[in-house]
Formats: sequence, C-alpha cells, structure tokens
Amino acid sequence: MQLLDGKVLSQTIKAELALEVAQLREKGMKVPHLVAVLIGENAASQVYVASKIKSCEEVGFKSTMIRRDADTTEEEVLDIVRKLNEDPDVDGFIVQLPLPKHINEEKVTLAIDHRKDVDGFHPINFGRMAQGLPAFLPATPYGIVEILRRYNIETSGKNCVVVGRSNIVGTPISILLSRKGYPGDCTVTLTHSRTKDLAAEVRRADIIVAAIGIPNFVQGDWVKEGAVVIDVGINRIEDPSKKSGFRLVGDVDFEAVAPKCSYITPVPGGVGLMTVTALLMNTLKACTGEIY
Ligand code: NAD
Repeated sequence: MQLLDGKVLSQTIKAELALEVAQLREKGMKVPHLVAVLIGENAASQVYVASKIKSCEEVGFKSTMIRRDADTTEEEVLDIVRKLNEDPDVDGFIVQLPLPKHINEEKVTLAIDHRKDVDGFHPINFGRMAQGLPAFLPATPYGIVEILRRYNIETSGKNCVVVGRSNIVGTPISILLSRKGYPGDCTVTLTHSRTKDLAAEVRRADIIVAAIGIPNFVQGDWVKEGAVVIDVGINRIEDPSKKSGFRLVGDVDFEAVAPKCSYITPVPGGVGLMTVTALLMNTLKACTGEIY
C-alpha cells in the first residue's frame, strides 16, 4: 500500500505556482488576486477560509478576505458579488458555503461572474466541464484528478465507484473520471443513499471515491485487493486523548482498508489539502486568462 500524500503533493504544486508568480512579476505583469467572502461565524468555514488566505500568501498571490456578520442580508451579499465581478483587480473570488439560512446559496452562486468563479460551482463552468470544454473545475474533484495524474495512476478502462452524489464532489468527479482522456476513460458507477447493495457495488471497484460525510463508512470487506481509494470525507469524531477533544477521520475505515489497497489518501493529509491547492491553480488560470 502506498499513501497518496496530499501534503507533499500540494507543497510541490505550490512551489510550481510560486515560480509562475515570480515569472509574472519579472515580466511586470499582475499577480493573481483571490478574494474570499465569509458570512457568519461557522467554525469550519473560518478554518477553511483562513487556510485559503494563508495558501495564497505562501505562493505570492494577493488575497483579500471580506467578512460580514451572520445577519448580513441577501441583497448585501449580492452587492458584494456585483462589486467583485466588476473589479478588474480581482481575478477570482469565492463565497464560502454554507451561507446563513436566510440567504439563497443558488442565487449567490448564479450571481458570480463565471469567469471569476474559481470554486467552479457556477452552472456555466459545470456544464463546460461536463462537455469537456475549458472550465474552472470544482476544487475538490480537481484536486482528486491531480492526485491521480501526479501519481501516474492508471485510469483507462478501470471500474470506478463513486459513493455520494453531491454537486461539489460526487457528481463532478464521476463526470471527470468518465470523460475521454487522462485521468479518465473509467467506467463509472455513481452510488448514493438509494443504491441497493452498496457493498457489492464498491467490491467491483478498481478505484473508489468516497464522499458521503459518514465517519469510517466504507468497510474493509467492501474493498477489492489492490483497489485505489480516494477518501474525501472530513469528519470530526470525539477523542478524549486529544487536547481538542476530537480528531478528524474520513469516510473510509482506514485501518481496515489500507492493508488491502494499492493506494489510499489519508485523512487528514489527503484530498483536503489538494482542494485548497486546486483553488490556487484555478486562480492562476483566472489571472493568466487560460480558461476565458
Ligand atoms: P453531501 O452531504 O452534500 O452529500 C453526501 C452524499 O452521500 C449524498 O449524495 C448522499 O446520497 C450520499 N449518502 C449519504 N448517506 C449515504 C449512505 N448511507 N449510503 C450511500 N450514500 C449516502 O456531502 P459532500 O459535500 O459531498 O461531502 C462529503 C464528505 O466530504 C463530507 O465529510 C465533507 O466534509 C467532505 N468534503 C471534503 C472536502 C475536502 O476538501 N476534502 C470537500 C468537500 C467535502
């Protein structure tokens, strides 16, 4: 079994991005500028946004955080989005989800100019991705395909079973891995809460992508010998031995699954770090005009 090390990989990619930023500077060109909009006090969102801003600093991008209280109105958020859409200094921006309940997330996502949508959540980017056209790929699936690419994992003709069909992970990764080309050309099965005999589906998989949000959900006896396992889950479970009182685990029972597979992403230190790195890759593309 080999670990798919998201920490090492994201450091490598960040070094490449830093080099590209240095080259832009040398040519007297603008450096990428990412803006993160954070509404409310969701603890996980604060951690994610802080990590995105810190990652920008590491690679020499300009970054700005716009923070507003939980009682900010939908119209105020839409106004922030409109201003960011029009600001020529801003290459890309994200509105961190989830938003407070009184704000319609779909309305906000649709208001973002797709040419600045570095989260890849806008339906124009999603549709272009599905058709194999240049697009900002959603950050987590982009991080996953980059893991597969950089570890030279064979995907052509492989049976891939994706567990979970969310718009931000399960559905887009199933599209990306079924597309023509590398990494892709898989025969993909997209499974979900209504799937009959999920274990039997997963047992057929050469590549498993687990994005469910249930700790240790994928069991050891569901996994074929030699399978490649991508664990997207980030779940907090109680752990009195830790100072914080909790630890992070994935959607895969790592202890039972790791000995059986050829490759596996750890949690933490796998897909999560690559998600932030993928956001940076999208922001550079937004700045250089590689997509639009
Ligand atoms: P979601 O809650 O939007 O979707 C979960 C999916 O799992 C649904 O499609 C549902 O049908 C399926 N599901 C739920 N129970 C099931 C069951 N018993 N059997 C089969 N399928 C079932 O989740 P999401 O946003 O895709 O996130 C999934 C996990 O990935 C979470 O732990 C989340 O924290 C994590 N996540 C991690 C990253 C990262 O950067 N690593 C990014 C996004 C999400």
